[in-house]
Amino acid sequence: MDKEDLFNQALGMKERAYTPYSHFKVGASVLADNGKLYGGCNIEIASYSPTICAERVAIFKAISDGAKRIEAIAVTGDAKDTMPCGVCRQVLVEFADPRAKVYIVNGKDDFKEYTLEEILPYSFSKSDLGR
Ligand code: ZN
Repeated sequence: MDKEDLFNQALGMKERAYTPYSHFKVGASVLADNGKLYGGCNIEIASYSPTICAERVAIFKAISDGAKRIEAIAVTGDAKDTMPCGVCRQVLVEFADPRAKVYIVNGKDDFKEYTLEEILPYSFSKSDLGR
């Protein structure tokens, strides 16, 4: 995987964010098991509840396109070191390996690298349901 492509897509997706209420833009890009990159941006709705994060847009685009697993994700936001929210971390647990890379991107050469397990330890997953 070329991290630069992942980072560039996340940075580009941030510019597409629809954030008329918070004005806080987030972009994400995921590398799926089919070798494709899928991007997402946060999208806010006036009644707030339907609002969705960039990470979930990207993940759901991948899964709806036929991908089965997420191998890596890059996230970039208006604040330095913008981290995925708890809901998105839980969605990642559904589709990604605990060792999947989570890149928090501030710029092409300014990023932090974590594993999913590091940002959501002791998670609840489908294995807890015995499935
Ligand atoms: Zn989120």
